Amino acid sequence: MLSVIIPSFNEGENIRRIAGVLSSLLTAEKIPYELIFVDDGSTDITWREISLLSEEEEGIRGVRFSRNFGKEGAIFAGLQKAGGEVAVVIDCDLQHPPELISEMYRLWKNGAEVVEAVKRNRGKEGLFYKLFAKLFYRAMRVADDNMELDRASDFKLLDRKVINALLAMPERITFFRALSSWVGFRRECIAFDVRPREKGNTKWSFGKLFSFALSNLTSFTNFPMQLMTVGGLVFFVFACVLGANTLVNYFSGTSEEGFSTVILLILIIGAFIMFGLGIIGYYISKIYEEIKFRPRYIITNEVGESPNNNNTKKQIEN
Ligand code: UDP
Ligand code: MG
Repeated sequence: MLSVIIPSFNEGENIRRIAGVLSSLLTAEKIPYELIFVDDGSTDITWREISLLSEEEEGIRGVRFSRNFGKEGAIFAGLQKAGGEVAVVIDCDLQHPPELISEMYRLWKNGAEVVEAVKRNRGKEGLFYKLFAKLFYRAMRVADDNMELDRASDFKLLDRKVINALLAMPERITFFRALSSWVGFRRECIAFDVRPREKGNTKWSFGKLFSFALSNLTSFTNFPMQLMTVGGLVFFVFACVLGANTLVNYFSGTSEEGFSTVILLILIIGAFIMFGLGIIGYYISKIYEEIKFRPRYIITNEVGESPNNNNTKKQIEN
């Protein structure tokens, strides 16, 4: 069975649309399936739509979070609940073409364990956004040579082995796109064109994206912390030269001038130290977040049954 995981945050008008498209597609392809909607703390009709749908139709399940925990949490909740031997993660807004699933499924049948849908174009984006994204992906590339993420998306098919590997990871701060590449396994790529969003607005503000990028970067590299060691070294060399110069001046009796140098040095070194402390502080805050071992998400409601669980349900009834 194929589990389709659909993270949804204020997607009220899209739930029925994507459910309709997916069930007709998968039924036509004769692929046994379940749809798992993860309501990431929506404040609109999303949950009502999901629960109604799960009563009307077979094979539709819903999980509801107690608040907005973010798309990463929603994806992991979906993976946790998935009952299939293979799962697909897809956006709720139909920007990821559902038709691709049959091709992904075929590749999986032929032995692929991860099938990644790779963006052929990056869709419509503002100049600032584009620049920021470029910078982030370049930095990620420096952090880990295998991470070619700028065309990657969260639209992926994962074999049960990969799902279990991902679920076994203890960390709280996750970056699905990078982690699913980090785990390895036999992978295939297929390209797709990002479609414009049909209904509703994007759920990502720039602030949300920025802190997401920073958090992902630091969870994959410690390089910024080493930057400070390099800065310290450079300043040590500088200090040695300047120290020698000062001593020579002192002994030759010409040590009057040089106040401007002192002021400049204090300013520059002060700035470097504060910058360095900031970087260390950021990592410590991440360590603190991880070490609290809080759950990635909290579930308040669940509807629907996994088609795989039919047997257990009958046993309980008997
Ligand atoms: N999403 C979510 N929680 C969030 C933000 C987004 O579950 O906090 C879901 C959203 O409902 C959609 C998917 O993640 O199914 C992608 O979000 P969106 O389309 O807003 O992002 P974009 O396509 O603009 O990158
Ligand atoms: Mg979208």
